[in-house]
Amino acid sequence: MPTFRTLALLPLALAGACADRAPSASPVTTPRIVNANAEPGNWLSHGRTYDEQRFSPLTTISAANVGTLGLAWSYEFTTPRGAEATPLVIDGVMYVTSAWSIVHALDAATGKALWTYDPKVNHARGARACCDVVNRGVAAYEGRIYVGTIDGRLVALDEKSGTVAWEKMTVDSGQAYTITGAPRAVNGLVYIGNGGAEYGVRGYLSAYDANTGDLKWRFYTVPGDPAKGPDGAASDSIMAEAAKTWTGEWWKLGGGGTVWDAIVYDKDLDQLIVGVGNGSPWNRQIRSPQGGDNLFLSSIIALDAKTGRYKWHYQTTPGETWDYTATQPIILAELTIDGAARKVAMQAPKNGFFYVVDRTNGKLISAKPFIPMARTKDTPKGFPISWAYGVDSVTGRPLENPEARYVGAAAVVMPSGFGAHNWQPMSYSPQTGLVYLPSQLLAGAYVPKAGFAAREGMWNTGTDFQALPDDPKIRGIVRATSTGTLLAWDPVKNREVWRVAQKGPWNGGTMATAGGLVFEGTVDGRFIAYDDKTGKELWSYNTQAATLSGPVTYTVGNDQYVAVLGGYGTAFFTIAGVLAPTSGVQVNGHVYVFKLGGKAPQPRLALTPVPMPKPPAFTWTDAQYATGTTLFANNCMVCHGFGAIGGGSVPDLRYSPKLQAAEPWAGVVLKGEKTAGGMPSFGALLKPDEAELVRAYVVKQAMMASAP
Ligand code: CA
Repeated sequence: MPTFRTLALLPLALAGACADRAPSASPVTTPRIVNANAEPGNWLSHGRTYDEQRFSPLTTISAANVGTLGLAWSYEFTTPRGAEATPLVIDGVMYVTSAWSIVHALDAATGKALWTYDPKVNHARGARACCDVVNRGVAAYEGRIYVGTIDGRLVALDEKSGTVAWEKMTVDSGQAYTITGAPRAVNGLVYIGNGGAEYGVRGYLSAYDANTGDLKWRFYTVPGDPAKGPDGAASDSIMAEAAKTWTGEWWKLGGGGTVWDAIVYDKDLDQLIVGVGNGSPWNRQIRSPQGGDNLFLSSIIALDAKTGRYKWHYQTTPGETWDYTATQPIILAELTIDGAARKVAMQAPKNGFFYVVDRTNGKLISAKPFIPMARTKDTPKGFPISWAYGVDSVTGRPLENPEARYVGAAAVVMPSGFGAHNWQPMSYSPQTGLVYLPSQLLAGAYVPKAGFAAREGMWNTGTDFQALPDDPKIRGIVRATSTGTLLAWDPVKNREVWRVAQKGPWNGGTMATAGGLVFEGTVDGRFIAYDDKTGKELWSYNTQAATLSGPVTYTVGNDQYVAVLGGYGTAFFTIAGVLAPTSGVQVNGHVYVFKLGGKAPQPRLALTPVPMPKPPAFTWTDAQYATGTTLFANNCMVCHGFGAIGGGSVPDLRYSPKLQAAEPWAGVVLKGEKTAGGMPSFGALLKPDEAELVRAYVVKQAMMASAP
């Protein structure tokens, strides 16, 4: 372990039941998804079933024969940006999304494109997407495919042709809302949330009429400006109560609480169980200065599925101040706990605790840390402090380490805003009783921002971003101390059963099968099958680039297939290229599909880094460089990476020909010459001499990289 002294310098965000179903014209309906186990050859909804366990009853591919799994086909996307989607597969057709919200309908046996739909998002929106311009998938319902777009639209497409049946703008386009999550469709309604809490928005969930696109109800997750009165929304019945947990003028920066991923339909209780995101700004001292829990930030909340009426909530992180979203995937199950059958919701949100909640009433059943958590005084020397060291089983509230709140003083805290677990889906096997959870250790340095003032269209977190220290030793320590682990977690006994150490943090989503297998992609470009009882690796494939999406399995004819998406991009590869250097390389994402005996050729990816151009002479003073470092951290780093090290998602600035001289650099930074590529003008935020100091920072970084 490194010493604490060293860690304190870390940058911020380190901070055989083959469904032999012939292609049929019968549409996907709610009863069909409720009975999804009757047709295991299809993957009808985001988590396969409404319970979203991501467990497949298929057994053709098993622990006994998985060694002969081979590539059946692959399909190349048209963008190198992040590939996060879980495909749907319905009667031989795969519906999958790539970045920029593009929908692809593919023949599930061959990969042949049947149609594509491009919503033609203005790429300037890319700068308002906190975590890459990703999309996590579609919903299918009664002959239509529904997708949310990065610019905030909900679009209904004809499943046969991809033509638009209707489209609705679900957000105020003047604000920095985005949609990256998959819609869900139930009983004639399509549900969609949004993101944007880094930029200063107010979160909500909307329900649209699947047939007409009419807005049926909306539930705001945080209270609005009290002077404006009730919203006329489904949330009105509870918002006055929620407002009592806020102080100050929280509404001025929206409050946050975006619903950007988990929206799960609980068919047993006809309710939606929804994960709510972090506060806006992150720093509660600024957001709600006299304290307060700030409902419903970082909460799991249950709403009546038909009306959106509030039913219950459980707040994982009261008074959230670390970007600890509770939007992470939620799995529903029935577990036997202390001899009694309990209907539960399970979640492993960013904050590092595994929660089991009674979904009939929202009461906490158990909460145990799945990464090391300790009181500050018991924290091993050299390890960052934990935000909390336990959860009180009576009150359901966390037992916090108060100094982790960084009130008046910076703190290095585990986990960071990347979370101990992020969007990568976990899975649950009813056969083993285990949850397969991609977890990670990444510490974050939280520095309260003095004199905070919001800036339009920028990250407004109320914390001061810290640049990656230039010292190569520290960079090495950052890499060495950031780790990833696949955990098999027993949610009844609240303990880890097995673990697999991985090459780094930010590994892929998981899927479990009745064939005794767990599939998971990795950050270093492998797709692996494990024995579900022991974690023994049984098979792997070299996908060459990070493979992070939720895998799926399905059948066409007598063949069982397994599919996953590979490619760089996502928040990690934009911000944290330092942890997985792929410098100078940008390759398009791919869909990879496997079957027993598959012999398709491996796609050729241009992965050999191009040589870095010789950087121009460094002509600035130390003081100018220091200013440039701060300007880069606060304006550029969330997209272009710690240390200006690209991760394969957006161009690595150290390689840019524009770096050579002031004028071409200013053309991009100040005049917006690359807006079409997703880089808008920063002319309103940076003065010409400041843009030049940002160049000074990047020139130095290029010199460090090209030094012998
Ligand atoms: Ca966030």
